[in-house]
Formats: sequence, C-alpha cells, structure tokens
Amino acid sequence: MKIHEYQAKEVLAAAGVPVPPGEAVDTVDAAVAAAEALGGNLWVVKAQIHAGGRGKGGGVKLASSLEEVREYSDAILGMQLVTPQTGPEGREVKKILVAAACDIASEFYAGIVLDRQLGLPVLMVSAEGGMDIEEVAASTPEKIFKVSFDPGPEGGLSADDAREAAGKLDLEGGLVEEMAGLLQKLARCYLDTDASLVEINPLVRTTDDSLLALDAKFSFDDNALFRHPELVEYRDPAEEDPLETRAAKFGLSYIKLDGEIGCMVNGAGLAMATLDIIKHFGGEAANFLDVGGGATTEKVTEAFKIILEDSDVKAILVNIFGGIMKCDVIAEGIIEAAQTIELRVPVVVRLEGTNVERGRELLAGSGLDLISAPGLPEAVESVVAQAKGGADS
Ligand code: GDP
Ligand code: MN
Repeated sequence: MKIHEYQAKEVLAAAGVPVPPGEAVDTVDAAVAAAEALGGNLWVVKAQIHAGGRGKGGGVKLASSLEEVREYSDAILGMQLVTPQTGPEGREVKKILVAAACDIASEFYAGIVLDRQLGLPVLMVSAEGGMDIEEVAASTPEKIFKVSFDPGPEGGLSADDAREAAGKLDLEGGLVEEMAGLLQKLARCYLDTDASLVEINPLVRTTDDSLLALDAKFSFDDNALFRHPELVEYRDPAEEDPLETRAAKFGLSYIKLDGEIGCMVNGAGLAMATLDIIKHFGGEAANFLDVGGGATTEKVTEAFKIILEDSDVKAILVNIFGGIMKCDVIAEGIIEAAQTIELRVPVVVRLEGTNVERGRELLAGSGLDLISAPGLPEAVESVVAQAKGGADS
C-alpha cells in the first residue's frame, strides 16, 4: 500500500524525523488559510498523488505571496497531472499540501528498500539528491552509498553504520552526527511500520543548517497491514486501480500489466510461469488475476468480469492447475460466468490436475465457444495467436 506525501511526513514526524510544517487541503480557500496560519513569506504548494516526479509535471510550485498561493492552488487542484510515473493520461489532483518553504543549501537522497538477494533491508544515501535517483543509480552508481542492517527485534541501523553513511553527504561539524541520528530513526521507522520502501528525496540541509525531509514516500507490506490499523486509515482508494480494489474485495489478486492477454491463474508461482511462457511465445499479458486456492463459482465469475473490464484485453488465457482447487469447480465457474456475462474475446482454457477429465467434459458439453488446449505450450501459442487476431486455434 502506498500513501500520500503529507501522510508519509506524518509518519516520519512521529518517528522523530524533522519535516517542514504544512497542511493538506482540498480547496483553494483552505490553501490560502493554511498558508496564512503557517506564517512566513515563502510556501510550497504540492499536488498529492501517488506518483513521483510531480515537480517536473508542474505539480510543485513555490509561492512568495498569499496571492501566489491562491493562484497555484487554483491551478494545481483539479489538474490532470502528468509525470514520468503517471502514464500519459495523468492523475487528477484532489488534494494539495501547503507547506512552509525553506531555503535549500544542499539536497540529499535517503532511502531504504528490502534487498531480496541479501534478505535484508538496505539503507541508501547519496549526495546527489533532488534528482532522479534511478538515473544516478544507472549512470554513477558509485555515488550511492549502501549499507544493510538487521531487521530483527534487537536490530536496526547501528550508530557506526549511520555515521559512515552520514559521512558520505558533505556535511560538516555537528550536522554529521545529527544526520546519523536521523538515518537511525528512519531505519527504526521503516522496521516499525513494516515498510517495504521509504524514500526521502530531497532530504535537505537548509541555509540555516537544519536537516529537513522535503519529500517523502512509503510503501507498506500489504501482508503486515493487519498489524497497523492506523496506517490502513491512510488508504486512498481514489489512487488505487479500481479493478485491483474490487478484486481485493473478492479475495482475488489482480495485477495490471501492459499487454493484451488477460490471464486467470491459481497461485503466484503459476502466474509468474504463465507470464514467462506468454513472453516466450511472443505475447504480452494485459493483467493477471490469481483466483487463489479456494476459488468458488462466484469468485471465478467475478474474476472474468474484472478481466473483461480491462479494455486492453484481446484474448483470455485460463491456466489452472487443480490441486486443492478442483478442475470441475473451475469449469463450472467458467460456464456460469460465460452465461451471465458476455465473453467479448476468445477464451483459451488449460486445465490440469484433480478432476481434470470431469472439468474438460463439462466445458466440452457446455456449448460455449471456448478453446480447450491439451497442454500449456499449446494453450499459450493459441491465446497469443487469438490476441493478435490470428485464426490459428
Ligand atoms: P517530486 O517532484 O514529486 O519528487 O516532488 P518534491 O517534493 O521532491 O519536489 C520537487 C522539488 O521541489 C524538490 O526537489 C525541491 O527542489 C523543490 N522544493 C520542494 N519543497 C521546497 C522548499 O520548501 N523550498 C525550495 N526552495 N524548494 C522546494
Ligand atoms: Mn521528490
């Protein structure tokens, strides 16, 4: 689960990481009132969407008067913000953050991600902050300092490692120690919230020598959210793919991808293998929907509806390995789904496992226009051809 910048800053502030004062609002008048209440003579007006690169798209503006706060809030609220991370259609801005702006002396990057190879969280810092960190990682990886740390109950980022990381950031005097403390608090916060990612970009030194997180981003591990009801409160369904949200309601997991083949599978492993084989045969998946181990007829029907609502889908591949999930139940689900909704695209079905014969009989006797494939390669070859509009079935 992702959250907005203003929420991420609340989480950081609670963990003792300094952030500029600010307020999230959804009207222009409230924005001006917020700026007035903050005081000072420089504010930053920032679009709140679950995507980065907002500055580049015109979603971050510095205002040096209340009139400018009004002008920029009016421009940003309701805009369809396009950034390198939103796709060409952009994202509608429903909320903005009005914060006290500061004078930046230098911009840094600090982030923590889970390194799956090491099986440990890794802190990354760079003096090349404020810019595209992926770009820095690709062209000058030596400018990113990395150190892993123990995620266990007694773990966290050690004082020595924190000092070494802070030492890479061109800071002087007491600021090195202050930065080290900040990084330790960041690591603690990452562990305590079961985050899978936290990023501060930029983390700045101001001209009056304080350290501040000017931007913040979190992703939390969905599987641990039950331990954090206070974080679940931050969920913003408007920022999530409506189909993913609907799938979650039915206990299905739906992932949107870029291609044209809709995939219904059971199990994450089979989903990955299916995507690889589709690629191997020259196709691209539009999505995959994992119906899990205990799919009922209703779930399968809902799964079909969700897949069909994705207008990118030109053909559907059902690839089910019946274990706990029996093939005849899946077949019944497919038949019932086909009777209640219009299957507007060709559907290729590959069933294998428990009660497969019964499942195939049901499909064959259903009178439905389904393409039954004997094995996975045949099924994938067929669905790729169907998606390309070929007659090869
Ligand atoms: P992003 O583009 O979505 O990553 O949004 P950021 O919050 O990182 O803002 C983009 C840029 O705006 C930052 O890299 C800063 O250079 C600038 N910015 C944001 N807040 C302030 C501020 O308080 N003062 C100044 N001078 N610049 C700011
Ligand atoms: Mn940023």
